[in-house]
Amino acid sequence: MKYNDLNIQTQRDAPNNARTEGFAFLVRAGYLTRENTPTQLGEVTLSHLRNLFSGPAFLAQLSLPTIGNNDEIFFSIASGPIEVAHCPNCKYTERLELARFAKTPLPQENELPLEKVLTPDCHTIEALANFLNIPKEKTAKALMYTRVSDNRFIFVVLRGDMQLTEAKLKQHVGDVRAATAEEIEKSGAAAGYASPIRLKDAIIVVDDLIPQSQNLVAGANETGYHLKNTNYGRDYSAEIVQDLIQARAGNACINCGNPLSVLSTINLATRKDYDFQNILLALAETHHDSKGLTLPHPAAPFDVYLMQVPGKELDTRANAEEIYNNLQNAGIPVLFDDRAERAGVKFNDADLIGFPIRITIGEKSLKEGMVEIKQRTGTNSNQLIPTQKITSFLKK
Ligand SMILES: [Zn+2]
Repeated sequence: MKYNDLNIQTQRDAPNNARTEGFAFLVRAGYLTRENTPTQLGEVTLSHLRNLFSGPAFLAQLSLPTIGNNDEIFFSIASGPIEVAHCPNCKYTERLELARFAKTPLPQENELPLEKVLTPDCHTIEALANFLNIPKEKTAKALMYTRVSDNRFIFVVLRGDMQLTEAKLKQHVGDVRAATAEEIEKSGAAAGYASPIRLKDAIIVVDDLIPQSQNLVAGANETGYHLKNTNYGRDYSAEIVQDLIQARAGNACINCGNPLSVLSTINLATRKDYDFQNILLALAETHHDSKGLTLPHPAAPFDVYLMQVPGKELDTRANAEEIYNNLQNAGIPVLFDDRAERAGVKFNDADLIGFPIRITIGEKSLKEGMVEIKQRTGTNSNQLIPTQKITSFLKK
């Protein structure tokens, strides 16, 4: 293909909405508009990637550092919208809202008798813990939902120092919505002072730490009062006991115990689908230097950036056309910069666009029957290759 056919527009400056270097270079090199829409060059690159696709080994072939599990593959990037928990040690990876972690139970205690206490204005765990001068982990947090499918009342209990992830709750009970004041009252619970004890028609769901946590303070289902020393098993039980807690950075990995990291990511693949535009962004993020993209083979849409420098005596343009045709006939993917631009402009654009090899046809070397070949990466400086040996050199 030729530069002018693709209507490539490179830019000197990074767009001001760029949050990462990879995105900035994709826009500057003319693969994407600043609105993140693929240009003609972008579309050619995306269809090249689609053609390259050959199953699960595909991403490894592109030299991309990815993280993932059996269902999804992610790429870590500052602008990524998907938060993922990741263990740097054993590589455990899961969307944050579904990530598991190793929980540490509090020391075992003997069960003490229930005790009703006056707790005025203690609507929150914070206020309750302050008022009773106890740590938050010695309280039981209540959350109330209604199941969408059958309007059943769902009462959730967690340790007061932890956060529910609704994604995990939904895995166990199906889709839910917040319970209305009327539904809460009907169940016998009191908002702000709710507990799972003596409820009517409620599905009780507790986090798996609750049966291991003795003597928690929970609501008395009476405004202004709480119960000290509530105990799972003795005072109430649950239909469902499962992990319901949102993981945080630093929580212990469920597999190996190492601290989990929380990373911003984009999704590259699910079981069903590959996201080729995200893969292009991941490629740009991984493969660039200060001058532009450094796309490796076979990720680059073209292996060769072919350009010519106008001569005084020789028609370098005609020679370049001939070499372009030879490369195409040999099946080597090549982009021919056929513009009437200064050499410096073309060199800069070749670096920005970032194909693995640049071939320059110049008068001086052409007189000796040679062309100049430069690798985009590495310290390998320019090499002179006899014109008739270009294809065999590239096929090596
Ligand atoms: Zn681990």
